[in-house]
Amino acid sequence: MTTQLIKVRGLMENFDDFVRAGNLLKNGEVVAIPTETVYGLAASAFSPDAVEKIFKAKGRPQDNPLIVHISDFDDLAKITEEVPETAVRLAENFWPGPLTMILKKNEKIPHEVTAGLSTVAVRFPSHKYARAVIEAAGVPLAAPSANLSGKPSPTSAQHVMRDLAGKIPMIIDGGECEVGLESTVIDLTGEKPMLLRPGAVTLSQLCRVLGEVLVNPKISEEVDDGEKVASPGMKYKHYSPEAPVVIIEGDAEDFVRYVIANAAEKKAAVLCFDEEKELFSNTGINAVSYGSKEDPQSLAHGLFAALRTLDEMSLDIIYAREPDLSDGMEQAVVNRLGRAAAFNRISV
Ligand code: AMP
Ligand code: MG
Repeated sequence: MTTQLIKVRGLMENFDDFVRAGNLLKNGEVVAIPTETVYGLAASAFSPDAVEKIFKAKGRPQDNPLIVHISDFDDLAKITEEVPETAVRLAENFWPGPLTMILKKNEKIPHEVTAGLSTVAVRFPSHKYARAVIEAAGVPLAAPSANLSGKPSPTSAQHVMRDLAGKIPMIIDGGECEVGLESTVIDLTGEKPMLLRPGAVTLSQLCRVLGEVLVNPKISEEVDDGEKVASPGMKYKHYSPEAPVVIIEGDAEDFVRYVIANAAEKKAAVLCFDEEKELFSNTGINAVSYGSKEDPQSLAHGLFAALRTLDEMSLDIIYAREPDLSDGMEQAVVNRLGRAAAFNRISV
């Protein structure tokens, strides 16, 4: 299969391409689309056969459910059993945007989408091209991140090309994704709302709207084999380069000293803050920076692209830096990097 890469200049300029993407989706095909979080691989959420193509193209484990994307708040009631008032309040505050809500599904959503669960994950993205494709398809779209399973989520159409060229018919290229990390996921089906995945909508923002929000402990620790988790995605190794990643805690000088002392005889590289890159300039050690220490949004935006760059260097080990935890976007960055490192941290 040849993969068509459509470079979008604007909704009007590329009107025909959006119609074509919609038609592909209506006919049970998959299309990769940009969103404000990461690129998604979309298919009709009402078609088990189309959804099966997503799992196949990505090599995604069958028990990992998909997020359903809508382009109108009213569509939420059409695919769920009930819309609790917590969902209404969250939607008023954060939709359209990078927040996914878990709700009880109704019979319109096939089990293939939810991996057999009785709940469904739903998001209303803000990206205008994502919304244009959903509208052109005329149905809600199931869309996980458009990467090969296990690889970092794609934040540019080139990343999607690298993983899925030849496997899918079309990629809508809307440039780099603004946020760069996947959506915040909150479960609204329990007695109290529970955060399952941190993202650009932060815990403190959620608490401001809902009052108390529980935090699933598996956000920040490894899941044991066979352990039952609230969100199947937590079980899987994610975002990982081939080489092991170790997070080094300490100040910049201790970090450099540790890396120089331990990198000998190894093909090692560093994933660091912009402010630290220069410290490695005469060491012979490759340093890839992913954003400014002072700007968590820049770290979120750059993390996955940096992990992909490192993955192309055939390394033995990657020494990484993470921001200090706070009540903002840092949580999501620490969570994704933590997973890439299997939560392996060394204090120096
Ligand atoms: P992705 O779209 O690739 O970012 O992955 C979607 C994430 O949402 C995965 O971690 C899934 O396990 C999670 N997810 C999707 N549906 C549900 C659900 N019904 N209950 C809990 N987690 C879900
Ligand atoms: Mg994913």
